[in-house]
Amino acid sequence: MPTGAPIGAVIVPVTPFQQNCSLVWCARTLKGAVIDPGGEIERVIEVARLRGVAIEKILVTHGHMDHAGAVADLAVRLEVPVEGPQEEDSFWIDRLGEHGAEYGMDHCRPFTPDRWLVDGDIVTVGEQEFQVRHCPGHTPGHVVFHHEEAKLAWVGDVLFQGSIGRTDFPRGDHATLIASIRDRLWPLGDDVRFVPGHGPISTFGAERQNNPFVADRVLARQ
Ligand SMILES: [Zn+2]
Repeated sequence: MPTGAPIGAVIVPVTPFQQNCSLVWCARTLKGAVIDPGGEIERVIEVARLRGVAIEKILVTHGHMDHAGAVADLAVRLEVPVEGPQEEDSFWIDRLGEHGAEYGMDHCRPFTPDRWLVDGDIVTVGEQEFQVRHCPGHTPGHVVFHHEEAKLAWVGDVLFQGSIGRTDFPRGDHATLIASIRDRLWPLGDDVRFVPGHGPISTFGAERQNNPFVADRVLARQ
């Protein structure tokens, strides 16, 4: 973030899936949120401590274990509320314990968000506002967080640099995912940088140019 930016943000990759957990904070108040704490909460807490950020809430893009497995632990540990995802992901969240155990991630536990989110909602972090976009397809209740002034978005497993989210899970749907990206991400602007759930950051404009699944020329042929 440049000096004077309204928000700060740092990525803390967690779990064997190297999921891009993020700490975001309001630059004025130093109040922050953890987006998608899939695991390794001690590391996330330490990053916040070193930055002087007081974590006031947890934001969740979707209910998969590498994104949401440690939400319950972190919420209890810090006594903070959980916002997101959209309620259609409750069937994933309810099974976090059993799915985590299958992958040796014994910390995974289900939870009930303090606030389910819907498209068009606003979530606050300190004095900052993030727009919520509901982007189903990878999971039915997947949401994305967008900060308009900073031109930054956290998109979970909807879109990656050069790829898109898997749709071979229960209630995943390829056409729905493509529509989410085209109709709910692209309108945010080509110059918006996004933090995907895995791998390097990119911009929507770069993906509209180069992404083999959702580049403009690819979608024009469908
Ligand atoms: Zn996922």
